[in-house]
Amino acid sequence: MLTGIHFLLSYMCNFECDHCFVFSGPSARGTFTIRQIQAALEEAGKIGTVEWIYFEGGEPCLFYPLMLEGVRRARQMGFQVGVVTNAYFATSPEDARLWLQPLADLGIGDLSISDDTFHYGDVEDSPPKRAVACARELGMPVDSICIEKPAVLEDPEQGRGAPVVGDSVMFRGRAVEKLIEELPHRPWREFKECPYEDLRDPGRVHLDCYGNVHLCQGISLGNIWELPLSELVLNYDAESHPICAPLLAGGPAALAEAYQVDPEQGYVDACHLCYDARLSLLDRFPLYLAPKQVYGLG
Ligand code: SF4
Ligand code: SF4
Repeated sequence: MLTGIHFLLSYMCNFECDHCFVFSGPSARGTFTIRQIQAALEEAGKIGTVEWIYFEGGEPCLFYPLMLEGVRRARQMGFQVGVVTNAYFATSPEDARLWLQPLADLGIGDLSISDDTFHYGDVEDSPPKRAVACARELGMPVDSICIEKPAVLEDPEQGRGAPVVGDSVMFRGRAVEKLIEELPHRPWREFKECPYEDLRDPGRVHLDCYGNVHLCQGISLGNIWELPLSELVLNYDAESHPICAPLLAGGPAALAEAYQVDPEQGYVDACHLCYDARLSLLDRFPLYLAPKQVYGLG
């Protein structure tokens, strides 16, 4: 049951993290207008099950007035609202308060702050730590998101010493370009299920300003600038979706087999194979594998 709509307010970000799923960075394009946000919120209301609206990116605070107005309208329509940010604005405690107070006043239900070594290194006093402290002072529900650098672990099911990669980073988007070197690879036929997403009955989807409704980053349910969001969601049938159907039947290995993709010998994880297979299918399924931004081709 779909309970959450997450706006990728923009693909633009002040950072360019190695693990970024959506290839965000300072030169990334694509930002919602307030009219588009309003239209999507109205459609979210028609679905009947959506409780939460999130604003994330990219970095949504780069478009602060737009984000604030989106939050205000979503709250007025009765939604709970969350914001995901890297808190770059919290250059001092006073500045943290300047940016967070208006969100607190609008009754934000969840503030998620990226705080890990990918973003600010391992330091005691950083913008995310200042933002978390300030949010607590303001009584805002706040959490940190911490992505660990990939680590090689022993796999108890495969026997002592058989290496697998810890699952904090998922190998899609820029992580495939930047982080897979020297990590252990496993045979592609082993990846027989999608480990993270409920593709049959998604609990949340991400919207971007190009109209894509992401079930997982870069796998779209359809385009909301062509068909209304409520119609797309209510008529969604995973079994007739050309990418989700094979993924549900047998994971990324089945996706590769279904379209005779020629896989490499080994992959770091299921997402790595899934992403690689999808890259070679982009031109075949432009409605369902989009936008190219998420594949580093924007
Ligand atoms: S992971 Fe977050 S902070 Fe880093 S580039 Fe992507 S959107 Fe920006
Ligand atoms: S296997 Fe594919 S669909 Fe599933 S989480 Fe990984 S990238 Fe997304």
